[in-house]
Amino acid sequence: MKVGGVIRTIDRLGRIVIPKSMCKSLGIQAEDELDVTVEGERIILQKCRNGCVFCGSSDRLVVFNGRKVCADCVDSISTMK
Ligand SMILES: [Zn+2]
Repeated sequence: MKVGGVIRTIDRLGRIVIPKSMCKSLGIQAEDELDVTVEGERIILQKCRNGCVFCGSSDRLVVFNGRKVCADCVDSISTMK
């Protein structure tokens, strides 16, 4: 899904308002956390995932380099050669 064509102005504090329709379509609500990354000349906002970055599980999570990974995925990764 690609939705665009909306221009917003950054305020003096570096803030922008994300269009309500975009938030609604992605299930983003007030107080939700967003992951902000830069890719080339783009700033990407993504809804933070509360589970494992690989499988989405919320069981037995550990944090590695700021990302949550479940124990099963850690085990799978550690057996890779
Ligand atoms: Zn996992």
